[in-house]
Amino acid sequence: MTSGYGRSISVPLQELDKCSVCSKTEKLRVCSSCAQVIYCSKECQKKAWAQHKTVCSQTHRINLKIFHPMIAYMFEYFRTIIPPNQPLHRQHPAFLHQIMKSPLPGYRRVTDSAIRLHYTITLGRNHVLGERGNELLTWWRGKTNEDKMKLFHHVMRETFVPEVTVVVSLILLSEVYSSYYVRTPQVPGEPPVFFPWEKRPLYRLEHGQSPVVDFGICRGKIESKKNRVQTWTYHDPKTGARNMVLDPDRHLWLYFRTIQGEEVFLDCSSYSFGMEACMDATKYLLKVSKRFRVSGAARIPAYFFTTEEQDRLPYVLKEEKRFSVMHNKDLWNALSWQPDKPKKEKAIVRDFLASIQEKECTAEQEERLDYYRMYGSLMMNQVLSGRHWKDWEKPEMYRRNDLWDTRDGWDEWQKAGPTDANYKAELTGLTRLFVDACGGE
Ligand SMILES: [Zn+2]
Ligand SMILES: [Zn+2]
Repeated sequence: MTSGYGRSISVPLQELDKCSVCSKTEKLRVCSSCAQVIYCSKECQKKAWAQHKTVCSQTHRINLKIFHPMIAYMFEYFRTIIPPNQPLHRQHPAFLHQIMKSPLPGYRRVTDSAIRLHYTITLGRNHVLGERGNELLTWWRGKTNEDKMKLFHHVMRETFVPEVTVVVSLILLSEVYSSYYVRTPQVPGEPPVFFPWEKRPLYRLEHGQSPVVDFGICRGKIESKKNRVQTWTYHDPKTGARNMVLDPDRHLWLYFRTIQGEEVFLDCSSYSFGMEACMDATKYLLKVSKRFRVSGAARIPAYFFTTEEQDRLPYVLKEEKRFSVMHNKDLWNALSWQPDKPKKEKAIVRDFLASIQEKECTAEQEERLDYYRMYGSLMMNQVLSGRHWKDWEKPEMYRRNDLWDTRDGWDEWQKAGPTDANYKAELTGLTRLFVDACGGE
């Protein structure tokens, strides 16, 4: 099962320092239609055109200003889907016990000089939240459904932040910046499965008119400004265990740097620390398979901002370390597939996560990395191959996560969009491919 497919990561503008024709280093500008080559002047651009024009016309540019809700949505999607061997959210203490006592999640304004607000949730006897949510009724007794859902969302968004963040950034590298995709390996005795995106054009991220030349993950501190930073501890009186799932000193978010040096950030995990800004992602999902929609899509936590816009955030981010994904050559190698070449994909991806969280990955984390990457690849390719972002607009932002005003149009939204038939064929193909390409270390 080796021949006939391949994927190559193709990152443009790796060398930003000189004209691609004459090697001059001043007054550089990028080809405005493809954002893949740099010139010093109109003259150099003209000289290169005969050769460049064939490549140039093939590139689709994706503006982060309208595309970022899809990226934010991937965070929520991954938090919600569950690998087949893993009982629902079993790593989180609050999903393994009844809740005896808890404050209600929600933002709290800064009223005094105290920096952080420490909350403790008291856990009761063992209680596993099932996939269908019926067990939610007995999870936190005596509370309204709305309060239960608020706590459920809080806990759910605390889960798996490092691996979700890593996979979202890997999907951007592997699906947006791959020069071509795959023909699935044919299984003897079965008909071949083809992807609709088999012969794919090039895609490039940009912010406004300015192409992205680096992106990756930032790690650092989140601090109070208008809203108080909250920490949540889970206390099991029976065993005496006190667990804090997320550490505000080790917060993770995404950065993008443009060729002009502008930096743009997307923070989808500050919700857990008491920061509530959400966007409506439902209209971005109208054309993807229903399989990829999750129920909270009308309010996805996200802050998207440039360096200058940081002032309007209710909190402060203090970056301590940055992990480039776009310029990580190990990751390019890991995510490129070539026929007849053994891969160390799993090991490289696992090590990347370990470097970000500064501890070894667990077996469950590895399993989630694979699972998220497979479904994320499928979803992103539907969006890219259908050029769905072309009819998107800037997202609607909501100050707070009001769950109950999101149900207008819910039924129509659930019905809209393609059936899952294509998705199933694609999934079959991709499963084979992942097993083949990622298997073994
Ligand atoms: Zn030149
Ligand atoms: Zn061009």
